[in-house]
Amino acid sequence: MANRILSILAVALFLMGAAAPSSEIEGELEVIVKDFPTHAEHEYSVKDAKGQRHKLRMPASYRHDKPLQSGQKVRVRGKRSKAIGGEFEVESFEVSASITVLPNTVGPLPVLVMVVSYSNQQNGLSAVGAKDLYRTAIDPFMRTESSGLQWLVGDKTVSDPGDFTAVTIALASGGCDYNQITAQAREQARLQGYRTNIFDAYKSFVYFIPSSPCGWNGLATVGGTGGFAIANGEYTCRVICHESLHNRGLQHSRAEPQCLNCGYSEYGDFTDVMGNTSGGIVGAYGRDRLGWVNQQNTPQVPTITQSSDYTIDALDTPGLGVKGIKIGGAMDGTNPIFLYVTYRQTRGQVFVHRGSEFGSYGYLMGYINTPDVGNWSLEPGEVFTLQGITIRTQSISGGTAVINVQLPSVGTLPNAPSTLTVN
Ligand SMILES: [Zn+2]
Repeated sequence: MANRILSILAVALFLMGAAAPSSEIEGELEVIVKDFPTHAEHEYSVKDAKGQRHKLRMPASYRHDKPLQSGQKVRVRGKRSKAIGGEFEVESFEVSASITVLPNTVGPLPVLVMVVSYSNQQNGLSAVGAKDLYRTAIDPFMRTESSGLQWLVGDKTVSDPGDFTAVTIALASGGCDYNQITAQAREQARLQGYRTNIFDAYKSFVYFIPSSPCGWNGLATVGGTGGFAIANGEYTCRVICHESLHNRGLQHSRAEPQCLNCGYSEYGDFTDVMGNTSGGIVGAYGRDRLGWVNQQNTPQVPTITQSSDYTIDALDTPGLGVKGIKIGGAMDGTNPIFLYVTYRQTRGQVFVHRGSEFGSYGYLMGYINTPDVGNWSLEPGEVFTLQGITIRTQSISGGTAVINVQLPSVGTLPNAPSTLTVN
């Protein structure tokens, strides 16, 4: 009798499997970005109320430039698919309101840096070497870019720019499964006495793995109240500062051609650490999103509302002056966007970027199909127009630039899409 019930149950389960009914998962979103040399890939998962993690498979048509952040509450409808390793195939996706104020961008940030060795491959860097790197490059970068609003600390040693330890994991050389890397390394650190199991002891975990053929140079969670980053073989600010800023909630700074949303280069913004792979500073849009400008004792990037000449100081030099202007009124489809005009003294050039208040991608605006960097900047006398907004570089001199902005009269703003022209 018992066997008969079991076999009926088995048939019922089989039929359910065949019918593959949709189900729902509710929980907290985790967004991960993998930085490959020329493109980025995203992974999404949901942690439900029981703490179980469900990896999502977004529809092929999904646009990854939506402003999703780790920590957002989501409700996902879809089907679990054995064919894709038990991932949850998403049919529909509801997400809580976009995060306009990113958490953990000011004040001391407790970080644990783990220098990971594989079971059969020793990491060439020591924990002391990692600490030196943080003392000389990573922490100074965060302090400079945030105008002193954010700095890194340890949990064990608050006066250090993080806690630093070396761990060896059971994974063999070349292992790229970030779930295994992070879980095993954290467990090893916990056994060494680091409080990796206490929520909030660290707001950021950083893993340095020996150079591995994973394809990606770095990987990070995007936003959220805590996060992690992995640097694959290259331990420089270029990789670590970039990944850490993903943790703080920023996405890439792209380069965009003449019209909105008609193509972009993922890391195309050569002026920004979230863009070009040769490094750079945090641009005005990123700093605005992080709350690193327009505060007391920080540089100002005021939103202007009148047509006029504006004198701006260079963004890439110290000082608390007006280091850019922000211009509202333009639209990307139905989304309001802001233009940011900044001057970089090291380049002697003015640039126009765009970004949105709730988004996380920045865009350097200009021509995309030219290797001539000069065409991406707004040289003296050149004019940039978008939807009735006209921006002209009047002059550049030493540490300042004069920018003329003409705004359309109220009520005449056209809607996107529109064409940009750089004369
Ligand atoms: Zn990235």
